Amino acid sequence: MAVKKVSLACTICGTRNYMIAKKADRTVRLEVKKFCKICGKHTLHKESM
Ligand SMILES: [Zn+2]
Repeated sequence: MAVKKVSLACTICGTRNYMIAKKADRTVRLEVKKFCKICGKHTLHKESM
């Protein structure tokens, strides 16, 4: 199965903090709470290309 690499960007400052592997057949946009070192706290991160 095809796996595509996507990055997760902080929705507050826009920094791409995480790289994750995602299955290509998943069309849902990922939204995850992750720690952002720029913001210094947990923020919502969204999938970006
Ligand atoms: Zn941030």
